[in-house]
Amino acid sequence: MSVSKNLKEIKGRMRVEADVSGRVIGDVQLIAVSKRQADARISEALAAGHRVFGENRVQEAQAHWLESGYRAAYPDLELHLIGGLQTNKAAEAVALFDVLETLDREKLARALAREMKKQARDVPCFIQVNTGDEAQKGGVTVSDLADFYAFCTAECDITVRGLMCIPPVDEPAALHFALLKKHADRLGLDQLSMGMSGDFEKAIALGATHVRVGSAIFGARD
Ligand SMILES: *Cc1c(COP(=O)(O)O)cnc(C)c1O
Repeated sequence: MSVSKNLKEIKGRMRVEADVSGRVIGDVQLIAVSKRQADARISEALAAGHRVFGENRVQEAQAHWLESGYRAAYPDLELHLIGGLQTNKAAEAVALFDVLETLDREKLARALAREMKKQARDVPCFIQVNTGDEAQKGGVTVSDLADFYAFCTAECDITVRGLMCIPPVDEPAALHFALLKKHADRLGLDQLSMGMSGDFEKAIALGATHVRVGSAIFGARD
């Protein structure tokens, strides 16, 4: 297993899919999801020149990127939070991440806005949408999306860049990707974080600007 080989292969498949579906490959960013991966694999991705990574827990991300010294060593790193965020971790999240993809409730929006002001750091966000209406999953419902977007932007002055979703495992992901795209268009948002190892090509065909790929790059997680 070689991380650099996997990265090359995934980027190649992304390019082919962009070509086939009439997208511009420069408009699609690969987020390498490094959660629950060994440091050796992460350093392999860095050595291969990759700089955009996704993490789903604040504490683990601090270990991977701060305590390792990588954050300081690679000024062009771009770290995305892709897992649910607790309000009491807002300060750490604002300090560490470059993009927060799981904005999904008013209390969190308020806490993030407060921290961004305090730290004088404007961290762009994606609103996570629970497109499958799953009780155990984070994200706003489709019916609450427009009001929540207005709240985040007008009330909290948060920079909302786009929408993110994690489709239900037992349904065709394409339906959820198309739904997310439709709602982003309605709100005038042009960024979409959708697609993982098993379905990133479909996501690109349906408008993804960010795909989040973990195991296909790094191998199975701990
Ligand atoms: C873990 C995770 C991924 C990556 O999943 P893979 O199937 O390993 O590519 C993508 N998005 C989110 C939100 C995740 O938690």
